Amino acid sequence: MMMQFVTPILRQSPRLCRGGVGAGVDVVLSNFTSPSNSSSSIRHEHSKQLLRAYSSSSPSSSSSAAAAAHTLLILGKPGGGKGTISSKILSDFPQFKHVSTGDELRQHVRTGTELGLQAKKFMDEGLLVPDEVMIKMVLSTTQSASATGQSLLLDGFPRTLSQAQSLDNTLTINHVINLCIPNEIIVERISDRWIHPASGRVYSYSYRPPKVHGIDDETGEQLVQRDDDKPASVMRRLEKYEEATRPLVDYYRDKGVLQTFKGTMSDVIYVDVKRWLEEKLACDDDEEDEKEMKG
Ligand code: ADP
Repeated sequence: MMMQFVTPILRQSPRLCRGGVGAGVDVVLSNFTSPSNSSSSIRHEHSKQLLRAYSSSSPSSSSSAAAAAHTLLILGKPGGGKGTISSKILSDFPQFKHVSTGDELRQHVRTGTELGLQAKKFMDEGLLVPDEVMIKMVLSTTQSASATGQSLLLDGFPRTLSQAQSLDNTLTINHVINLCIPNEIIVERISDRWIHPASGRVYSYSYRPPKVHGIDDETGEQLVQRDDDKPASVMRRLEKYEEATRPLVDYYRDKGVLQTFKGTMSDVIYVDVKRWLEEKLACDDDEEDEKEMKG
């Protein structure tokens, strides 16, 4: 099963920039359907209020949207390789600052902050942390990034339509990578994942095993399984993804910024992601140059 390979869906000929034939085209997406009632069910009034409060308290929000160099978003099922693909992107494209809500939340849990205590019960059960908590946590980061023109790689946010709409008020999402991995591979992969809780170091017995079984390479301490990586929790996370996060595929596809990458192995998928991203960033630079020339 692990020997299946990526289905390359991206066969982009020479440079096809936004507005060209390839703009926003996503072959695999034509197979997607989204649950009909999901979008309304996740629009919480509370998070809308928070969003309005943020928008009005940020006088520079529309101008700051233009200031961020690029905002890249990575979407995909839990355990679907978002973290692995993100770290490869960061090493090849160091201009991006990584914003991983999962890492940030786990850091809060480790250090016992109030936010961490609040979030832990949701995370352990495989549920999403409420929108208002997430929006507050992430928007402070994205607002300061847009003020300084920093490029961002968002990993794990947004995960609901409310979160996506709140983000639209502070940033322009330039490109979205949608990772499409079969569920059976995800379940296999997650049960293989063990961590060193104090540092957050992640091991996989198939891809990145520790030198000694069950032991952290650097400290010699015991590895454990994340509470939310236990089977019942994994199933709930996959269900939550379908209900709350899948509609974002349509949301960003409709904006013409989404590209789906389908496969089972992150190393193989990344070859296509890298090629696509190089192309997109080069196109964005061309567009900037054109704008400058037009004055
Ligand atoms: P995964 O993608 O494998 O679920 P993450 O590390 O991205 O792992 O997230 C771990 C957990 O943190 C999620 O299951 C969820 O409980 C919480 N979480 C992370 N990002 C968000 C978000 N944007 N909205 C709500 N909950 C979130």
